[in-house]
Amino acid sequence: MSLAEQMDTVTDAAAGTVDRHATTETFESTAPATGAVVGVFPVHGDAAVGATVARARAAAGQWAALGFDGRKQRLTAYRGYLARRMHELADLVHRENGKPHADAILEISLAVDHLAWAAGHARKALGPRRVASGMLAANHASYLEYQPLGVVGVIGPWNYPVFTPMGSIAYALAAGNAVVFKPSEFTPAIGAWLAAAWRAAVPDVADAFQVVTGFGATGAALCRVPVDKLAFTGSAATGRKVMATCAETLTPVLMELGGKDAMIVDDDADVVAAADAAVWGAMSNGGQTCIGIERVYATSAVYDRFVAEVSAQVQKLRPGSDEEATYGPMTMPSQIDVVRRHVADATAAGARVVTGGTDDAGEGYVAPTVLLDVPETSAAVREETFGPTLTITRVADAEEALQRANATSYGLAGSVFSASKDRAMDLARRMRSGMTSINSVLTFASVPALPFGGVGESGFGRIHGEDGLKEFTRAKAITRQRLPLPVNLMSFGRPA
Ligand code: NAD
Repeated sequence: MSLAEQMDTVTDAAAGTVDRHATTETFESTAPATGAVVGVFPVHGDAAVGATVARARAAAGQWAALGFDGRKQRLTAYRGYLARRMHELADLVHRENGKPHADAILEISLAVDHLAWAAGHARKALGPRRVASGMLAANHASYLEYQPLGVVGVIGPWNYPVFTPMGSIAYALAAGNAVVFKPSEFTPAIGAWLAAAWRAAVPDVADAFQVVTGFGATGAALCRVPVDKLAFTGSAATGRKVMATCAETLTPVLMELGGKDAMIVDDDADVVAAADAAVWGAMSNGGQTCIGIERVYATSAVYDRFVAEVSAQVQKLRPGSDEEATYGPMTMPSQIDVVRRHVADATAAGARVVTGGTDDAGEGYVAPTVLLDVPETSAAVREETFGPTLTITRVADAEEALQRANATSYGLAGSVFSASKDRAMDLARRMRSGMTSINSVLTFASVPALPFGGVGESGFGRIHGEDGLKEFTRAKAITRQRLPLPVNLMSFGRPA
């Protein structure tokens, strides 16, 4: 099937998941590289979202009743469907999000891996178990179960439109919940494709995973329905609004928010490897990565070499949308203004531009920018820039680097480069972040067994791994008295 036919199918499938009479308004999704229309999608309002969640609720019982094996079989079919059509989906991601095809393949591969892991480990992580009863309840058998919540709402961003939402969707489904997903208004076709793929791969419980499309109001409607848990990935500003809406119905939330990740480069670090990782961590995906490196703190011993190496590597980057391109256009036009404001503020405050800056990088693009001597008070150090920019700061030693790395309201991820394993582990443990990689960047994201999430304004709760499965369950405690022995809590204090 051609991409155009596929798009017609997914557009119809997205529209077909709701009562067509419930919404008449539509919106267009356009390709950042060309401005061409990718698809036309319904703006789902309260009624349509409510109807979709009701269908998901009706399917949730059947989905949960399949048990771990039945769900694993269907999630494996879905995983296989995505893996077989990886290039087709990557073409769509390339068109609608703008990222190079190779980057799209990378994020789809990660999503496929997480699907396999969640399906394969749900029984071990969540299966019913007997636990020790303790002395006072010694005559009881004690059981622990992780039960599905029901319907999970997932609201996602546009920057990793497959991998990011799948970090919630795969784990919520594997834990026995139905899911209703609201993709970003910048990537509705990708969300619709994922839901259409589910209907094709899992036709017997098709309503267990559905999509609704629209803007922030559609997301707010999903918060209000209510659902049994709302997994949100996006900016801290929107996260606050989502929490406020969910508070009305006491709907629990999981918050995966922004970051201002730091890298520490210590005296004994492999400078070339650190520079290579910093450039990839800061510039890949056009810097539009929640766990992207935005700040580097390099000790005096390595600073000059590190700056020279980063600068040399950044010169090799190539913008564009062909196969040679290393980074694509900014997906969201308004983000270009944010990046330019951060760079302009920093230079006005005395920062030096090594490369990039406000250079014209072509319509829709931002030149990869490396800034030195940026005052710690400027937005480029304090706020999430979410573009291809990197600030590099000279520090006396690794302790100062850690102190500055931790001086942020965010705390998503970070990295440490050092030849000493013990020192690197110590710095990694003390870094105020949910995730830290040593002598590499962002690698925790590709380890499905590891939890993913932040501290502070980067959010709370965890996706991925066993913690990610448990996030979408309710722990249930059951005790059963086995023998009516004298040591029975319930008989204490009763008259003889
Ligand atoms: P955003 O906050 O603008 O939008 C995210 C989603 O929220 C979109 O689907 C949007 O339609 C929806 N939304 C907007 N207003 C809403 C409301 N009032 N109620 C409910 N939903 C609403 O974020 P974005 O620009 O799409 O994504 C970029 C942000 O996401 C960055 O801050 C980035 O760091 C963050 N992010 C975090 C992670 C993570 O795992 N921590 C991963 C990817 C992206």
